[in-house]
Amino acid sequence: MNDTTLGIILKQSEYKNNDALIKVLSKEYGKLSIVVKGIRKATSKNSSSCMPFCTSEFIFDYKYNQSIYNLKKSSIVTNNFKIYDSLDKLSACNVIAQIIDTSIPDMHKDSELFEICDYLLKKVNLNVDIYMCICLILVKILKINGIVPNVKCCINCGNEVISSLSLQGGGFVCKGCQKDFYFESLAVNRLKKFRYLVMAEYKDYDTLFELFTCDLEDCDLFMNFLKLHSGTNIKSYEFFKDSVM
Ligand SMILES: [Zn+2]
Repeated sequence: MNDTTLGIILKQSEYKNNDALIKVLSKEYGKLSIVVKGIRKATSKNSSSCMPFCTSEFIFDYKYNQSIYNLKKSSIVTNNFKIYDSLDKLSACNVIAQIIDTSIPDMHKDSELFEICDYLLKKVNLNVDIYMCICLILVKILKINGIVPNVKCCINCGNEVISSLSLQGGGFVCKGCQKDFYFESLAVNRLKKFRYLVMAEYKDYDTLFELFTCDLEDCDLFMNFLKLHSGTNIKSYEFFKDSVM
């Protein structure tokens, strides 16, 4: 009774009457679907704490294997309201939220995923390298799904001197092997960035943001890798591309 969790609102959709259904990435329970009653009434105390991309504290009754919960109370912890200042930031957050919503099983409990999502949304809120934010959530999702690109050596022969990236092949290839694969012709600098992003742990993120910046081409590489190896198509990514171009 009266279970409490921190959660990030991934999306909000209309429900019956004045109610809303929110999808929440919670710290303790994974993804949750929560009905917020009366949210569209002027007197609702939950309208700001249930806005997409905020981090809030939720009180509800948790039951194992239940799919939808009724909200008892919520209070805002991080509002991230600057996300709504620009279409770029808003569409980047929609991409991050959709990646988590579509590529993680509902019962997957991962408090680090919560920490990472919370960290990245704060970066987007402050307009800090929204491209790197998208790359980093994609890398985390690839790791959770066990489809991490091989960036240590050539995927074919193990040579540590690599010359290109094969998205289909699953990682780096050396000069001698690249004729056997579909590969991307990429500058050395982009290959290095790709390796850094894949190798980075959550504790390294502050350093990464100081070290270099990302762009749409970096996002494309990880997004295409996810698509090729999991079949997932993130629809909001096309809208994001239109908004930043
Ligand atoms: Zn090779």
